[in-house]
Amino acid sequence: MTEPAREICPVCGSSNGRRIGGLCAHFLKCGKCKIVYNAGYAPLRYDDSYFLEQYKSQYGKTYEEDEDAIRALSSRRIDTIFKVWGRDGDRSALRLLDIGSALGFFLKTAREMNIGSVEGVEISSYAARYCRKKLRINVANASFDDLQLDTTFDIITAWYFIEHCSDPAAVAQKIYALLNINGIFALSVPSFFGPLYYFNRKQWIESHPVDHRIDLSPRSAAGFLKRIGFRKVILRAGGLHPERVFDTNSMFFKPFAAAYTKISTRINFSDTLEIYAIK
Ligand SMILES: [Zn+2]
Repeated sequence: MTEPAREICPVCGSSNGRRIGGLCAHFLKCGKCKIVYNAGYAPLRYDDSYFLEQYKSQYGKTYEEDEDAIRALSSRRIDTIFKVWGRDGDRSALRLLDIGSALGFFLKTAREMNIGSVEGVEISSYAARYCRKKLRINVANASFDDLQLDTTFDIITAWYFIEHCSDPAAVAQKIYALLNINGIFALSVPSFFGPLYYFNRKQWIESHPVDHRIDLSPRSAAGFLKRIGFRKVILRAGGLHPERVFDTNSMFFKPFAAAYTKISTRINFSDTLEIYAIK
C-alpha cells in the first residue's frame, strides 16, 4: 500500500489522479496539471557507490571514466542556454549554480566556456570532495532542500535532478527565488511524451526508477514552470530514438527515421526533455 500523501499530485496538489497501467501500478496521471507521478516513490541515497558501482552497472563505465561524453553534452547544453537566452557578449560577470553537480564536469565545462563564477551543490560527499580537490571548484556538500544561500544567480542548472525530489514544486519555487530577474533555469527531465511511454508502456512501467517522483511532458512542464512565475519556457527534445518505434531491419527504416526525427524535433516527442525557463 502507498501512503495517501503519495497519491496527491506533487506539482499542483490535486488528488484527481488517474491510475496508469492497471490498479496495482503506482503511477498516476494528474487530471489537473497533467503530469505523471509515482505513488510508490522511494528516495535513494547517492553515496560513493552511485558514482562508482551503480553508474558503471548502468552505463558500462564509472562516472569519472565517462568524463569526455559528459563534457561534450555539457558544452552543447551551455551553447543552447546562450542561444535560447539571447544573451551575447561578456560572460565574466555571470554567476552559475549547478544543482546535483556530481563530480563537477558540467561546472568545469562552464568555467572553460568563460562563465565567470561557477559553483555546485551535491549531496554525495565523495563527488563534492572530488570536485573541490581535483577541479578546484566550490561545491556545497548538502541536499538542495537544506541549502541556505544568501546570494542569487544568473544561471541555475539541474540535469536529471528535479524528478528525484519528493517535493518538486517547492524545489522549483526555491530555484525561482534564487534567480536574478531575466535569469535562466536549465534542466533535463524524463518525459512521458515519448516512444517508451506511448509504444512500450509495459517496459516504461517495469523500468521506471523507484526514486523518480515525477515524469513531465512538453505541455505539463511549460505549465508547471509558468505557474511558478517563469515568463518564458523553451523546450527541446532529448535523444531521438526511431529504433524504439520501428524495426531497424526493415527496408522502410531509413525514410521512417528521417520523418520521425523531423516530427519529433518539432513536437518534442522524446523520452527525455530539456527545458530552458527564463524568469
Ligand atoms: Zn497536478
